[in-house]
Formats: sequence, C-alpha cells, structure tokens
Amino acid sequence: MKTKKLFSLAVITMVFIMNFLFSCKKDDNRTITEKIIDVVLSPSDDKALGLKVVTEIESNPTEYPVLNETTYPIPYQHIRRIKDVILNSGKIKHKTEFEWIVKIIQKDDVLNAFCTPGGYIYVYTGLIKYLDTEDQLAGVLGHEIGHADLRHSTDMMVAQYGAAFLMEIVLGKASQSTVAQVSKSIVGLQFSKTNETESDTISVRYLSPTSYQCSGASGFFEKLEADGKGCNSLKEFFSTHPCPDNRIQNIKTKAQNLGCSTTPIGGTSYQEFKSSLP
Ligand SMILES: [Zn+2]
Repeated sequence: MKTKKLFSLAVITMVFIMNFLFSCKKDDNRTITEKIIDVVLSPSDDKALGLKVVTEIESNPTEYPVLNETTYPIPYQHIRRIKDVILNSGKIKHKTEFEWIVKIIQKDDVLNAFCTPGGYIYVYTGLIKYLDTEDQLAGVLGHEIGHADLRHSTDMMVAQYGAAFLMEIVLGKASQSTVAQVSKSIVGLQFSKTNETESDTISVRYLSPTSYQCSGASGFFEKLEADGKGCNSLKEFFSTHPCPDNRIQNIKTKAQNLGCSTTPIGGTSYQEFKSSLP
C-alpha cells in the first residue's frame, strides 16, 4: 500500500513537472534542460551571480581597465543613450528584473563586448572605435543584451558546474578563489553556435521598433569580412562568440521577415561618441 502511494505521488510529480515544462510558450525553442534552469535558478539569481562577476572584474583594473566616468562622462552618456533605446524597445523579457548597467573598458586593441548574467554589460573601446555607425554598435549591444536576456551564460554555467554549486556562489557561501574562477569562466565563456544565432536574431528583434537599422549587427560582421577579419581570424570576438553558418544572411533574413528599417540612422552622433574617447 505504501509502495502504491509512493508510486502515485511520483506520477503526480512527474505530470506536474512535464506540465510546467510544456506549458511554456510555443515559440520558445529552448530545450527541456534549459527550461529546467528557469526552475532551479531565478532571474534574481542571475543578477546576484552577475554582481559577483562585476566585483571580480572591477578588482582587476590591469586586466579590465574600466574607463573612469568622472573623467570621461561624454562616452558614458552616448553608450547609455544607445543602450536605453534598445531597452525601451518593449522587446526585452527581463527589462525590469536585470540591472542593464553598461561600462566601457579602455583597451583599444580588443574588438569585443560581453554581458554577465543579470545584465552587466562591458564594451571595449577597441570595438567602439572600430565600428563605423551607431547602428552597428546598437546591433552588437543588442546581441550582448540578448545573451543575458536569454540567460545563455546561466544555462552554460549550470551545465558546467551544476545548479547547487552556483547557488553556493549566489548565497555568498563559496570561497573567494572559487568565485574568481567562476567569474573568469563567465567572462571567457564560449557560447554555442545555436546561442550565437539566437542572439543575432534577437538583436534584430530588439532593434526592429527603434529608429536604428535593425540589421545593425550584420554591418559589424560584414565590416570584419571586408577587412579580412572574418570568422576564426579575430580571436577576441570569435573566441567567445563563435561564428554560426550564414550569420550575415540570417540577420538580413530576420530583418526582411520583420519588415524593419535597414537604413542607417545617419547623423554625427557616433563620430562625436568616438571622438569623446581617450
Ligand atoms: Zn555572442
């Protein structure tokens, strides 16, 4: 009798879990494993995890020389203006739950950007200076915001370390060396090609209601190709953001499907932004 009761309880629990997993949106392509992560770690856990990474980054100014905002307020005004346009697109799932704080790292030889879990965004001066238009930077920012909003890092960290281990960090129970090691892993995380395609696609979606060229991210990849810095040759960006097949075409097709603007905004604001950097 006891065995029967236990069996019934197990069946009810399984039905409950499966109902939860399959009641997610029909357009949600996340795997069942990824959906389980939504249960084991909440968005507020992402924010706590991201804050640990931020603390590590900002305690290491040699590796991450964050541009001083008091000395250079203008570049921060520009990058926040661009970020806010994206955040106000109405398309960000975790707009109010995540922090969405953006910082500039002063390294002119690095063409990269990254975003921790919970929405702490870092953009290198090398990337800002390399790009030609604000639309291109908006496209790359949309891509980075997408990684956090879709919780790609969290998914990968749970797969690598397990949810219980990450919760130790979130709750402040892990040692300093463990936090440092995990933070380093998050910053240098190599996303999957599927994650890359998702972030490229969602960047177009975020930019679609704004005045920006919604395919802005493709401008960055086209520029890299034209400069002979395509996939596999630009180590910083592609070491963390590997190249999916047909990346440029995927972005353009998404823009076409959404019917959003593919015309650059023009104007002088981006040149002013670049000129304001040291
Ligand atoms: Zn990426």
